[in-house]
Amino acid sequence: MRCPICDQKLSVKNSRESVTGHKVWRRRMCQSCNTVFSSYERLRPENVTVIKASGKRRRYKREKLFGSIFKTGIITRELDFGNLAIITEKIIDDIEMEIILSMKKEISTKELRGKASKVIKAHNKQMHINYKSYYINE
Ligand SMILES: [Zn+2]
Repeated sequence: MRCPICDQKLSVKNSRESVTGHKVWRRRMCQSCNTVFSSYERLRPENVTVIKASGKRRRYKREKLFGSIFKTGIITRELDFGNLAIITEKIIDDIEMEIILSMKKEISTKELRGKASKVIKAHNKQMHINYKSYYINE
């Protein structure tokens, strides 16, 4: 990686794996201007297709899932936006890990929402109730 300020090489000063070993955090420092950065590396599902109820196929996008879960959190009104963004990221990390472990390259919207529902339940009860009424019992 290169420094965005002076375009010189960054060196890794420190790194830490998450408890599960599925994520890595690194502190990097520019060899020229000494600016310090952090970076995160995590495993993400690749080339997964979501099949909608209409039969339309779309590439899985983390951002779309983030939007639906974050929206559920807004309706729930328990958390400020900052904390809601943090919990939403954690929920999506867990859902993505389930997708990876299922080893499926195709997933229906229904299946994806089922996985999301299960994971959200483990994180926040009220968000789960709202997610279900919005996305499961529609
Ligand atoms: Zn620099």
